[in-house]
Amino acid sequence: MSYFSDIYNGIKTLLTGMRVTGGHFVRIRSENITQLYPDNRDTLQMFERFRGEVVMPHDENNEHRCTGCQSCEIACPNGSIEIIWDRQVDPATGKKKKMIDKHIYHLSMCTMCGLCISACPTDAIVWAQNYENAVYDRSALTKVLNQPGSKLKAGIEE
Ligand code: SF4
Ligand code: SF4
Repeated sequence: MSYFSDIYNGIKTLLTGMRVTGGHFVRIRSENITQLYPDNRDTLQMFERFRGEVVMPHDENNEHRCTGCQSCEIACPNGSIEIIWDRQVDPATGKKKKMIDKHIYHLSMCTMCGLCISACPTDAIVWAQNYENAVYDRSALTKVLNQPGSKLKAGIEE
């Protein structure tokens, strides 16, 4: 008798476990959250909160918001950011002012903690949502975030 009750209990627990799977199978078209990557590479949009890499936005005049204050460099726990800066004459005032030469970001070392972005007083760096960061040459993961020829946006002070 226990032989048949074991079979009954086995089938019952199997169906209980399959109930969730079966539910998803039936509703697959309306509630499907599986991404068909890489087939959908052209249309795939990452969630806004996704942390792909740190970037520095520039406006249409090739201007950024980075004053070279080094707060991000100091906040980074593993040295993923290096700020190369200099004091240059500000054309607007004629006085010498701290300006960045290069904002260097080592993506290969970055743990995506976000401390640099939180520390930036001028919102000069943000998260990008790009997710295909694999490269053959590791040096390609060392990036200069300020674009060639770019400058500090007027009105942004350290
Ligand atoms: S996200 Fe974290 S690890 Fe990456 S550069 Fe910023 S502070 Fe450093
Ligand atoms: S990105 Fe922000 S915190 Fe880093 S040097 Fe520039 S202004 Fe300072």
